[in-house]
Amino acid sequence: AKDHGGDRYFIYHGDMFQRVAHRVMMEGEVKQALAKGQFSLSLQPQLVAKTNKVHGFEALLRWQHPERGMVSPDDFIPLLENSEHMISLGYWVIRRCFELYKGMRDIGLSDVIIAINLSAAQFTDVNLQSYLEALLKEFDLAAENFELELTEHTLVKDIDKAIVTMDALRLLGFSFAIDDFGTGYSSLAYLKRMPVDVIKIDKSFVVGMLENHADFQIIMSTIAMVKNLGLTVIAEGVETKAQLRTLTENDCDLIQGYYFSKPIPEAGLFDFIGREIVD
Ligand code: C2E
Ligand code: CA
Ligand code: CA
Ligand code: CA
Repeated sequence: AKDHGGDRYFIYHGDMFQRVAHRVMMEGEVKQALAKGQFSLSLQPQLVAKTNKVHGFEALLRWQHPERGMVSPDDFIPLLENSEHMISLGYWVIRRCFELYKGMRDIGLSDVIIAINLSAAQFTDVNLQSYLEALLKEFDLAAENFELELTEHTLVKDIDKAIVTMDALRLLGFSFAIDDFGTGYSSLAYLKRMPVDVIKIDKSFVVGMLENHADFQIIMSTIAMVKNLGLTVIAEGVETKAQLRTLTENDCDLIQGYYFSKPIPEAGLFDFIGREIVD
């Protein structure tokens, strides 16, 4: 049941109450979980399609809950949207990415990127830029080492303001990827107006791309369009060799998905790095 506001509000009142209660509980739990160190990151490699070289890693949040086990980010991040706790958690994620990058640089790896997911609340937070600038100084890292992933959902609120924020962060050297591309209502409008570097084809198109004609055509057109605009295109959710081969043959730049690697827990990251990847 969805609430549409207006008179429908009352019909779904019970449901709304439960959702609010659940959210309030979540917010409290997240605050505690941060203090208790229950969050970690997993890093999923992004590979250059034509060479199988590691291009970088997407940082994905993991919550090891003492009773509920591993809680999926899809089960708590949407609930926390617009909450101050999501902003704190988001800053924790960014700091952790800098720490991990410093660890990688210390073993001689400095030509990869870490892609960081930003929530809407975080992207519009007034402290974002100064926080990032402070971290660059503290860790002595280059902004070019980090890519910020935004969804259309993140951008939709105030496009003009989003562009101002993106321009400022790009001036520092950060790059931007549009995540889940094609799943929103106005992907093409964003592509035209946003100062982005990378387009991420959503995995919902990739999963059936070799069976479903429409998905296949959407992917091929997206790759061609993105390349013609001079931007980089990455496909996520690549699970099979056949998908990989088709995407590579059709000029998709980067590949992310279970076929190469599931997200790797922080502790296993340095074992992965340096390992030769053969498909
Ligand atoms: P996303 O940004 O679209 O991330 C990709 C999701 O696809 C990840 O799910 C990843 O584990 C999964 N995935 C990767 N390769 C494959 C594949 O080959 N097949 C399939 N079926 N799935 C694949 P995950 O880690 O559960 O994250 C879910 C979502 O939670 C993310 O979707 C993102 O929207 C959000 N999220 C995760 N970490 C963060 C974070 O630090 N901050 C924010 N704001 N959101 C995050
Ligand atoms: Ca993402
Ligand atoms: Ca995505
Ligand atoms: Ca997604």
